[in-house]
Amino acid sequence: MTSLFEYAPAPESRSIVDIRPSYGLFVDGEFVDGTGTPLKTVNPATEEVLSEVATGSEEDVDRAVRAARRAFVKTWGPMRPADRGKYLFRIARLLQERAREFAVLETLDNGKPIRESRDVDVPLAAAHFFYHAGWADKLEHAGLGPAPRPLGVAGQVIPWNFPLLMLAWKVAPALATGNTVVLKPAETTPLTALLFAEICQQADLPPGVVNIVTGAGETGRAVISHPDVDKVAFTGSTEVGRSIARAVAGTEKRLTLELGGKAANIVFDDAPIDQAVEGIVRGIFFNQGHVCCAGSRLLVQESVHDEVVASLQRRIGTLRVGDPMDKNTDLGAINSAEQLARIRELAAFGETEGATCWQPEGELPDRGFWFKPTVFTDVSPAHRIARDEVFGPVLSVMTFRTPDEAVAKANNTTYGLSAGIWSEKGSRILKVTDQLRAGVVWANTFNEFDPTSPFGGYKQSGYGREGGRQGLAAYLSSGDQK
Ligand code: NAD
Ligand code: MG
Repeated sequence: MTSLFEYAPAPESRSIVDIRPSYGLFVDGEFVDGTGTPLKTVNPATEEVLSEVATGSEEDVDRAVRAARRAFVKTWGPMRPADRGKYLFRIARLLQERAREFAVLETLDNGKPIRESRDVDVPLAAAHFFYHAGWADKLEHAGLGPAPRPLGVAGQVIPWNFPLLMLAWKVAPALATGNTVVLKPAETTPLTALLFAEICQQADLPPGVVNIVTGAGETGRAVISHPDVDKVAFTGSTEVGRSIARAVAGTEKRLTLELGGKAANIVFDDAPIDQAVEGIVRGIFFNQGHVCCAGSRLLVQESVHDEVVASLQRRIGTLRVGDPMDKNTDLGAINSAEQLARIRELAAFGETEGATCWQPEGELPDRGFWFKPTVFTDVSPAHRIARDEVFGPVLSVMTFRTPDEAVAKANNTTYGLSAGIWSEKGSRILKVTDQLRAGVVWANTFNEFDPTSPFGGYKQSGYGREGGRQGLAAYLSSGDQK
């Protein structure tokens, strides 16, 4: 798209990655063939097929779970905690050493801007391993009982929006607490998980501690329903989360779910408007809006509504949408044709239900999956674009008059993952934060992540926490439990 400033192209080179024409499953320390029908993974910015990836059948999942069990019983479980920590440190350092390779591969497979995979996804993934490496030999100080014990084999299923980072959120705490893992990446973004498997080999991680089984929903279902899995961790849609909760109900399995969101980003009239506009942009356009905690509902105090919307539109006009491999790109490609169809469908509802749609001028690339940054004004809380998770670059703007009205509107959702507040008054921030039913509340910033900070939802956004001391609890038994 044309923008206020012209930039010369600044493409990142892809020569650092060596994508194989096909990949197997990573089971018991080795790449093996899958018995299901292989899937193709594409670059969503060009529709180019990047590679063919194996599909794990029930039988393959069973082999992976048996390998994980053996490793739990024979090597990883009995290992001295300090030694487990050394492996985690080693993995963290290897992720840093090969950071550029991971960033390029993530951008090719997912469509997110290289600037984000390079500056956010990969460094945060390494940070999660460093943080959890430190916990490995200090678990008795985590406030979870005097001698917390691992659960056993963790079955983990992750989505496509932050492929490597969600892997790190799942694998690092599981290993630090002495569990072994069978992880299924999303079908549209398996490649960085498979590169991570190579890192496990490079780090000499004992075979079976981490197993990566690629495939689609059926493979995920086989992982979470395998009878010898002790702990299930899932991030993805609320619908699939619900079906997993049903599948796990009545078993001994422990479960954490990190599901959708429809976060309110609340701007009070005393907020520094320019700073708030940056936060609104970051809240909804970071990662093309494919973010469960995205600030997709903007609640603006009525007296500053026009000023905020005008300033927001001016700022959106300067965003660069296009080639994700260009270092100046702000918004990359939508992850898949299916997700693009879902975004289009919900945006069309916005218009038929009477909201006003605004998009910046400019052309989108011909090939690939693209959606312009979009702002809906005149939105009412009953509209679908105000209620449903779009999971794309679509912002719904509503107004409020008083702090009480802001809180009521913010909490008027079936979700409760995150929220944001923009105000100069500390007392107001504290009071409103207290009343918001959301797992994370950001004040005068948005979409900040840190491995020390627990993340998770209220209501239909799921249960359990990931990150921080609280996140360890999901992978440990304190002795009085199973
Ligand atoms: P999804 O929930 O279908 O997929 C997430 C993961 O679960 C993938 O690895 C998938 O293969 C796996 N899966 C699918 N069905 C399964 C089953 N029955 N049992 C076990 N695993 C299963 O998500 P999606 O279809 O990719 O996206 C749909 C919507 O979900 C999006 O539009 C968005 O609203 C939401 N979403 C939320 C998040 C999040 O981070 N909370 C991430 C991705 C998608
Ligand atoms: Mg892909």
